[in-house]
Amino acid sequence: MVAEIVCVGTELLLGNIVNTNAQYISKEMARLGIDLYYQTVVGDNEERLSNVLKTALERSDLIIMTGGLGPTKDDLTKEVAAAFFGKELVFDKKTYEHVKNKLESYGIHQMTESQKKQAMVPEGSLVVANTVGLAPGIIMAQGEKAIVMLPGPPKEMKAVLGECCQLFIKRLSDHVFVSINIKCKGPDEMPLREIGEAPIADLLGEILDSENPTVATYAKEDGVLIRVTAAGKTREEALILMKPVVTKIAEILAGKIAWVKEDTD
Ligand code: ATP
Ligand code: MG
Repeated sequence: MVAEIVCVGTELLLGNIVNTNAQYISKEMARLGIDLYYQTVVGDNEERLSNVLKTALERSDLIIMTGGLGPTKDDLTKEVAAAFFGKELVFDKKTYEHVKNKLESYGIHQMTESQKKQAMVPEGSLVVANTVGLAPGIIMAQGEKAIVMLPGPPKEMKAVLGECCQLFIKRLSDHVFVSINIKCKGPDEMPLREIGEAPIADLLGEILDSENPTVATYAKEDGVLIRVTAAGKTREEALILMKPVVTKIAEILAGKIAWVKEDTD
C-alpha cells in the first residue's frame, strides 16, 4: 500500500508557516511501515485541490490530508474529497453536539452558520472525534482507496491521528521500518577528502544499491550521515536483516565513524 500526504493551505505556499504536519505524518507512516512516496502542498483553491487529489488517488492508495476542515469559506477539503467519491455532505448529530459543547466550554452559546458547517460530513464516512479542537477527522474509503482528513492545527492533527486513524492505518500495513544512523566524523576531526560524502560513497560501493536494508548517505556540515533502513514484519526481524550490513559498513569505515544509533524519532 502506498500513502501520500496532501497538506492544504495557502499559508504553507506563502511560507508563512512551516509544514510540520507533513514531517510528523511522514514519521508516523515510516513507524507504521507504510510506504510514502509523495508529499504535496496545495493552496485553498477548489480547482487546484481537486487536481491534486485526482493525481494522488491515481498513484496512491491512502491519501492523508491536513487542513481546510474548519468553518470558513476557504476550508474546502471535505467538499472536494466528498465530490471525488460522489458523496454529499450530510449533517452529523454527534459532531454537532461536540462542536456545540466545545463552544459552550469557551463561553459561546450561539452557533454561527459557519460553525454549523463543521457538523457536515461526507455521507458514509467515519468520523473521528477531535478531543482538542472543533473539526473532527474524517475517513472516507471506497474500494482500495482511502482518504483520511485531519485538521490543520498541529495539536489537533496529532490528537486525531493518534485517536483512531492510527488503528485504521495500522491494519493496512504488514511491516515496520527500522533505521540505524551511522554518523561519520566531521571536518574538524578528519580531512574532507576522507570523510566527505563522495569518498564515503566510493568506499561503500555496492552497499548503496542494497534493497532491504536500503543504505543512503546524507551530507551534513558536521559529517556525513549514513542511514540504513530495513523493513520487517517486526522490529526484531528488521534488525536481523540490517545487522550484516551495519557490521560491514563499520568494518569499511573503521576509524571514520563518530557514533551509531537507532533512529527513534
Ligand atoms: P481551523 O478550524 O483552525 O480553520 P483547519 O483544519 O481548517 O482548522 P487550516 O485552516 O488549514 O486548518 O489551518 C489552521 C492553522 O493550522 C494554520 O493557520 C496553521 O497555524 C496550522 N497548520 C495548518 N496546516 C499546517 C501544516 N501543514 N503544518 C503546520 N501547521 C499547520
Ligand atoms: Mg481553516
